[in-house]
Amino acid sequence: MIDIKKYILDVEDFPQQGINFKDITPILNHPAVFQEVIDRMAAFVLECQADVIIAPEARGFLFASAIAYQTHKKFVLIRKPGKLPRATHHVSYDLEYGSNILEMHQDDIQANEKVVIIDDILATGGTIEAIVKLVELSHGQVVGLSVVGDLTTLHSPNLLKGLSFQALVKY
Ligand code: AMP
Repeated sequence: MIDIKKYILDVEDFPQQGINFKDITPILNHPAVFQEVIDRMAAFVLECQADVIIAPEARGFLFASAIAYQTHKKFVLIRKPGKLPRATHHVSYDLEYGSNILEMHQDDIQANEKVVIIDDILATGGTIEAIVKLVELSHGQVVGLSVVGDLTTLHSPNLLKGLSFQALVKY
């Protein structure tokens, strides 16, 4: 098994002072590493028996679209305000740096569909909480979360309660 941590670089003070940014782009620069990451995340999605893969822009999309292709699952986009063209649900959330609003098309998820969230890095968990709320507004159910890297000290363990969880690298 490839040591994926070697392909996530620490960048100090980016995008602002005091933030240790985890740069996942070397994973994308190494095809065998990217392939292993996608294979492992796709296996988790299949284990969860999810109907839908959902991911926030922008880095979540890089992983989620490849996983959706491999697993033949429906892929739903979570975007920043004003990017989605049809009627949306929206929720505000806090980031490790700053705050924002996330949106999802209202009709992208049907009632009772099982959803797995995909993202690159789990930090405070604010993004995940916002996505759970968006899915609930469409009466779907988040059953799992898969991330490439988990900054374990930045979020409460309660965040993962009741969810199947996969993190390929833990910090
Ligand atoms: P959070 O809502 O705090 O869990 O932040 C998660 C989102 O912000 C993810 O989509 C990440 O892409 C990004 N993010 C937050 N903190 C970092 C970090 N230290 N390094 C890289 N990305 C981060």
